[in-house]
Amino acid sequence: MSRGGRELAETPGPGPVPHLQVGEWQDAYGLTAGITTRDREFDLGLFGPGRAASVLAHWSEFHQSFGSRFPDVVVSRQVHGTAIQFYETSPGGWQVTEGFDGHSTSTPGLLLAITVADCVPVYLAHPSSGAVCLLHAGWRGTAAGILEAGVSRMEELAGVAPDDIVMHCGVSICGSCYEVGPEVVRALTGRQSEGPETVDLRGELASRADRVGIRDITVSPWCSAHDADRFFSHRRSGGTDGRMVAFLGLPGS
Ligand SMILES: [Zn+2]
Repeated sequence: MSRGGRELAETPGPGPVPHLQVGEWQDAYGLTAGITTRDREFDLGLFGPGRAASVLAHWSEFHQSFGSRFPDVVVSRQVHGTAIQFYETSPGGWQVTEGFDGHSTSTPGLLLAITVADCVPVYLAHPSSGAVCLLHAGWRGTAAGILEAGVSRMEELAGVAPDDIVMHCGVSICGSCYEVGPEVVRALTGRQSEGPETVDLRGELASRADRVGIRDITVSPWCSAHDADRFFSHRRSGGTDGRMVAFLGLPGS
């Protein structure tokens, strides 16, 4: 493995809901992993600037599109923390929780979801047991150790070693588009910087994953800020854009 991980591009998935999917995970592991896009202005930001009626209609369409493969879906109001919710059983239907930036389960038919528009969706899976974990990782969560928390959670719950975990860093803002101040550089790397610098969050997450023993790491080439027609970007829009949903789960049927 190269230090930054192998490049793996999400490709358009089937059906009317605009999305990209990690086809390799479907083919190799039977896992559903992907992210919605901004085609049709398909905003799924429950706590963003979008009109509630249209956001809720999009969520209904998103949920229904999975049919019997995923009767249940969970999402949370995210707080850029490191709390990860584990679901031993499906909550039944669509559940919105409070304060979790990660979700984990081994239950088939339960789709984990997070909302993003520049932050990194981190997909973790233990393919032989079907255990999955989906993390929302911006700079704060990354610096606070949400990746390490997710790996620990999978070790506790599924009893797996990190080198049996596969990881994908999905669609997010790229290194050249993400300029941050010295306080962010310091929080992420421990390094002092003189002024603003660009930061590659996915590269940072891949390095951290390598340090905790994950060997199979892939990184999306897509940038949410570069490709304005395809993705929502908080940074590029000055905070006015909608949200995409990244999703991960083992189908129930
Ligand atoms: Zn970019």
